[in-house]
Order: sequence, then structure tokens, then C-alpha cells
Amino acid sequence: MYVSVIVPRPLDGAFTYRVPQEMEARISIGKRVIVPFGPRRYVTGIIEGIQFTRPADVAAVKDVIEVLDESPTVIHPQIKLWHWLADYYMCPVGDVFKAALPAGLKLESESVVEAAGDVEPEVYESLSDDDMKIVTAVRDKGKVSIKDLARSMGGRPVETAVSKLVDRGVLEMYESVVNRYRRVKMSLVTPLIAKGDNAALQAAFESVKRSEGQQKALLQIVALSSFNNATVPTRPVSKADLLEASAEYTWEHVQALKRKGLVDISVREVSRFTAPEDGDGKFAAPLPSLSPAQAEALRGIHESFMSKSVTLLHGVTSSGKTEIYMHLIDHVMKQGRQVLFLVPEIALTTQLTRRLQRVFGAKVRIYHSKFTDNERVDIWRDMLGSPGPCVVIGARSSLFLPFSNLGLVIVDEEHEPSYKQYDPAPRYNGRDAAIVLASLHGAKTLLGSATPTVETYYKATEGGKYGLVSLLTRYGDVCLPDIEVIDLAAERRKHAVDGAFSNVLVAEGRRMLRDGRQLIFFHNRRGFSPRARCRQCQFVPKCDHCDVSLTYHKHSNTLECHYCGAIYPVPKVCPNCHEPAMEIEGYGTERIEDGVSALYPDARILRLDLDTTRSKEAYGHIIDDFSAHKADILVGTQMVTKGLDFGDVGMVGVVNADNVINYPDFRSAERAFNMLEQVSGQAGRRAGAPGKVMIQTYTPDHPVIGFVRRHDYPGFYEYEIEQRRQFVYPPFSRVINIFIRHRDRSVAHSVARDYASRLRTLLGNRVNGPVEPPVARVASQYIMQVMLRVETEASIKQVKAILRSVYVEMNSGVEKSGAGIYYDVDPV
Ligand code: ADP
Ligand code: ZN
Repeated sequence: MYVSVIVPRPLDGAFTYRVPQEMEARISIGKRVIVPFGPRRYVTGIIEGIQFTRPADVAAVKDVIEVLDESPTVIHPQIKLWHWLADYYMCPVGDVFKAALPAGLKLESESVVEAAGDVEPEVYESLSDDDMKIVTAVRDKGKVSIKDLARSMGGRPVETAVSKLVDRGVLEMYESVVNRYRRVKMSLVTPLIAKGDNAALQAAFESVKRSEGQQKALLQIVALSSFNNATVPTRPVSKADLLEASAEYTWEHVQALKRKGLVDISVREVSRFTAPEDGDGKFAAPLPSLSPAQAEALRGIHESFMSKSVTLLHGVTSSGKTEIYMHLIDHVMKQGRQVLFLVPEIALTTQLTRRLQRVFGAKVRIYHSKFTDNERVDIWRDMLGSPGPCVVIGARSSLFLPFSNLGLVIVDEEHEPSYKQYDPAPRYNGRDAAIVLASLHGAKTLLGSATPTVETYYKATEGGKYGLVSLLTRYGDVCLPDIEVIDLAAERRKHAVDGAFSNVLVAEGRRMLRDGRQLIFFHNRRGFSPRARCRQCQFVPKCDHCDVSLTYHKHSNTLECHYCGAIYPVPKVCPNCHEPAMEIEGYGTERIEDGVSALYPDARILRLDLDTTRSKEAYGHIIDDFSAHKADILVGTQMVTKGLDFGDVGMVGVVNADNVINYPDFRSAERAFNMLEQVSGQAGRRAGAPGKVMIQTYTPDHPVIGFVRRHDYPGFYEYEIEQRRQFVYPPFSRVINIFIRHRDRSVAHSVARDYASRLRTLLGNRVNGPVEPPVARVASQYIMQVMLRVETEASIKQVKAILRSVYVEMNSGVEKSGAGIYYDVDPV
């Protein structure tokens, strides 16, 4: 018997191993095995196939070392999804495997050192002091991994010294497979008195009457184990619950009860993921009843699902999309199926999680990157144990969980760029992969957003692939907020601007604060990407060929087009107003916060950005505090645009809308509309207290500003889709970015040029570049980028085949140069 095994290495395809006869009975697809890989290493692989034919090169085939699982860790159709991801996003399946499994399920070997026996005393005498220190450390520890040894020696590298000592026979070294996963153990206390036997109970209390602690402990155990309730069986009480119930006894008292034979203490391994007591939803709140408009939307979704497997719910901000999701989730769970609720960044969804937990109780599972690896393993195992209907809220990586019976995938805020993984491979879009996952399960996908991506809206309208349901009114007769656009150039001419803030904005904020309302100041940091701008007329240079703003590159002091690679000098005078006023700019949230606190010295201010939310709880605290009106003003980056629901916000101030609009990217208009509309959505969300949005801009006539002012998504879409058609951007083409990297800048450049020209002979002007991306050096590697834009009608399969063959053709050259290549398919 032979098995093909996927290994967690950046390599394509599976590797064949022989199965020793005694293991054959335990082999099945999806189980983990330990296999040798590379010199002296052992890794965890997943069995993908079983064969009974000898491979051609049988001598090179190694044996499976161990089968780790009783039952598969990876279940159908997970491996299919992995292969789809590898194929579509052009990366090795090994990289997908690495991303899919929590580390605790991927055991790896590490080098372990031990002192050798029978060493002649002369040998020790000949060792240097440093070597002797190592030998002593190893002896003290008995058996120690190279890593721990290095740590105990103050962090200096020990590999070379150790391998010399191994050669001299003083130390022994071997590979040992380590399991980093730690199970949680729980002590359980069970009364040993027969239920209903009151005489025995009395006797028991009699026997502890001299120790008050023991008495109290026994009393508590009897109470918590439902000993006195004849209708339910006695159940064990956990140590934690018991000690939490009262401070009148200690664990020693309980142990004394055990010695007297009154209780039994057992230790059980439990999952870190223990469901709360209301597991059946007993204490859960009822489903919210829907408004007529919401009920109509829900009906529309059900109807759309009859003919389409993907449906877009376009619901304006605060229309109550979450309430509609809850009804769908309930519907699917009642059919006994599972739901995956994808959110762009789980750390940003404390509020959402609580809302779902109130209704679905313990059927809610959460999976995200801020969990420890042990916690992730527990959830994985929990999902394998056929947990029945449940809803998993998670970031994109929760796609990889072992769903057995998925009925629905919800992708909330489908427009969010953070669904896309940049680094490392697989560089996948969680939304698109979710649609594939759902189809593998025969499940439906609902995409939800107030500002859908142009691609998605196209598919839901002209494209005809997806269904479309629109919900264009806010819940509870609340109006969308009024939007006032402030022309910063005009205000400056009137000297009515102080620093970053116009007087109009400041006055409106003051009025709101006086009325006891809260303010949000939004400042986009994405716009931090440096660019040139005219101080006088605010003109930002654009590329002549691509209609995107140019990015400033410091090392060469040039402006470059991110798309076609055209390079321009920084103009000495402004091409628009001919004043010598071009400057390079960029500024951050911290400075905005300083400005705001100077304007409103009495207000309590919170700041929400990457820097203030580094710790696990920080984000939740800031949101809770602002929600509870413990602060008056929230200053933040695009984080404040993400699926929040505050009741008291009167005004949202957009410090500089141009930051968003002038991003050097064909998606800049879409992104600007999304951000401005989403952040506006935070104002005036409750009835009776309308909200106001103040947008400061130097380009008040920009079409995007007009659409935001009218909250006109369909109008924006009509405008934007024409731009895309004209410049053949998605959805009328697909974009694949190809990255070449090398330690040496000139090698990276020459390989990339060579590569691009070879591609060009086959694909013509679909090939753009190479260019140096805005972040041109990562981890001491220089990166060059080639952009490929392929018409949607063309066969993407063929194009990918061409890409691969050009790479193979160049491979010897690339190999010689040591340059690496990777792809980013459908970049966002
Ligand atoms: P969206 O996600 O579409 O922006 P939310 O789901 O956050 O909107 O709803 C906005 C606000 O209206 C929330 O405070 C929510 O609790 C409330 N709401 C919406 N629909 C209902 C409903 N059917 N019953 C009660 N409250 C609702
Ligand atoms: Zn260009």
C-alpha cells in the first residue's frame, strides 16, 4: 500500500510514501501521518490518496513513520477546496495546507540533544571551557532541544559547537517529533453517596461534623451535583465551579472528603472550548421581529436562493442587515445544517458577536487569529465531532474549518479589502473562496453590504450570475444623515481653516457636543502613501496612461505609476496652476487627535487605530466605552467604518476626503465611495436624533463626493462601471500581479525585465511593467512587479498555463539568479 501525502512545504502536489504492513488497517484519507521529509526531518502530512500500484522509482520511496489519527482530521471537501485555492491563486498546495491547519495539528520534528554514555575522561579534559558549558547544560537537562539549549545559554547559537561535540562522541543528537498542543485537564468531583439514600447522607455529614470546611464543601457538592433532585441524574461538579461557589472551604477540604470515601475526584481532558450551560438555547433571547421592509428583503433572499446559489443583499447602513442574517441563520440551523458567518476582521466585531450570542447562545462558535493555537485546535476538534447545527463567526481563515454539513455562508461587508490575504501565500480572497466552499457543500452564499464592490454588483445585475435584494431604508424610520461638503480651498481663501479643521466643521461639532451628542473624526491612513500635491491649487499629478495618482518614490526622487511603470520627475512648478508649490505630503491620526483635543479641551477623546488596538482586549474596551458614552469623541482610521452600531453619534467629520480619493489604484473611486458612505453611516442611527456628516475636501466637485452626498449607490455604480469598461479594469478583465524578488536590486530588475518581455511576446499589451511596487523592499528582498490584465472572455486557464510555462522556460535562468516568483491573483 502506498499513500500520496500533502506536506506543509511550499511545494506542489503530493508525495508518495510506502505504508508498512502493520499500519495498513489504520490508513484512510484525511488522516495525519508523520513522514520523513528532507534530511533528518519529520513533518505532519495529510493522506490525500491511497494506491496499490508500485511507484516507478520504488527505491526512492520512504516509509510512513506513524499514523497520528484514529479518525480523519481533514474531511471532505476540504482537500478539494485546498486544490481549488492552490490552482486559482497559483500557489503550492503545501502552502494552503500550512495556512489551513492550526499549528497544534501540524507536528514537526526538532533536533534533540542528549549526553552520550561511556565517554572517556580524557575526552572531557580536552574540551574547551565553552564546550564544557554546553555539555554540562545538556547533562543538567537530560534531554533538550537545540532551541531550548540555545536559550539556556543566553541565546547564542549552539548548532556548530553541538555538531562538533556529536562528532567527538560526547553528545548525541536525533530528531524528535514534538506536540505543541496542550490539553486542558479538569478535576471533577462526584458524590459517592447513592441518590435518595438519606440515611447515608446523614451519616456522611455526621462524619465531617468536626470540620466546618469539609461540611460546607460537602453541602455545596450535594447542591451543585443535583443530588437532591430525583428527576435528574447526579452530575459531577468541576473544581473550578466548586471553588467559585463559596470561599468557606478550600480544595484541601474536598481532598479530605475523598480520603473519607465520600466523594470521588477524577481528572478529565476537556476542550478549552466548553459550551456554556444554555447549550440548547434555553436562555437565549427570541429572534428580533422584522420590520415590513426587512421581512420583504428576507422573502426576497429565500426566493432568490431558489434559482441562484449566490445572492447580494444591498442594504443601506443601519437597515438592519444583521437582523435579517439572524433569521436566515435560524432557518438553516433548524434544518440541522451549519452556517459560516464571515466577517472581514473578527477583532472588529465584538458587538456583532454579542448580538448573535444573545439569540443563539452556545451554538455560536468563534474562530480568529487572536485566539491561541491551542484554542484553535479545540475548535477544530469540536467541529470534527459533528457538533450539529451551529454558526461559526470567523475571519477568512475559518473557511478552512472541517464543516460537515454547511448550509449557508454569509459574507458580511463583502466590499472589505481585508478579505484578501496579501502575505504569505495563499493570497486568496475570503469572499470568493467562501463562494467556492459553499458550492462544494451545495450550500448558498449571501453577500451583504451597504456599498457592494463594483464586481459583485455587476454580477448581481448585468452579469446575471447572482441574485440581488435591495433594502434601501434604515430600520425604525431613521433617515440617512445629511451630508455637508466643505470646500477646503475656498475656506482657506477666507482664512476660515485652522490646521486641518475648517471653522464650519468645528462649530458644528461644538453644537453637537452641547446637545450631548458624540462625534467621530475619521482620518484615512491608507492615504498615507506619499504623493506630490500642489500647495496652491491642491492638484495631484496622475499618470498619462492609467488615470491613477502617482506615488512618490523617495530613493529616486521620482513619481511613478503603480500600474504601467511610467516614471515622471517631480514637477518644479504645478502643471495645473503653474505656481512653484509642489510638495510631498502625508500625515496620521495621532496629529488629528492632538488637533481635536486642542479644539475641544473639555471633551473626552478616544482614538481607534492600529496603534491603540495592539492588545487582545483594547479594541473591545474602546468600543464599549464609546458605546456607553464614556467618551465624547472618537478619532480613528477606517477602523471606525467597520460594522459598528453607536446610538449617540450626532456628527461624523471626514478630515480630508481627498486622502481616500487619490489613492493610486483603479479602485480608488470605489474605495472612496465605500469609506465615505460607511463612515457616514455611523451618524444618527437612532430615531428622533438626526445625524450630520461634514466632509472636508479640496475636490468638492469630484463625482464620488456627489454620490455620497445623495447616498446614491446605484448612481455611483453606473458612473464607475463605465470607467472600468473604458480602461478594461475588473469586472471586464482579471488582474494578476506577478512578483519577482531577489536580494540584489539589479538582479531583481533584470530578471523582471527579461520575464516581462518574454511574457509580452506571448500575451502582448496585456502585460504591464515591470515596476517597482510602493513597498519595494521586504525582508531584505527587492521586489519587482509585473501586472497582467486579461479580458474576462479569455481563458484564464490558458493564461495561467502560459505563466507557468514561461516560468519553467526561465527556470534555469531564475534558478541561476536565485530570484523567486509569486503571484497575486485578483489583487484588491
Ligand atoms: P446594518 O448592519 O444594516 O448597518 P444593524 O443590523 O446594525 O444595521 O441595525 C441597526 C440598528 O437597528 C441596530 O441597533 C439594530 O439593533 C436595530 N434594528 C435593526 N433591525 C431591527 C429589528 N428588526 N428589531 C429591533 N431592532 C432592530
Ligand atoms: Zn500609468
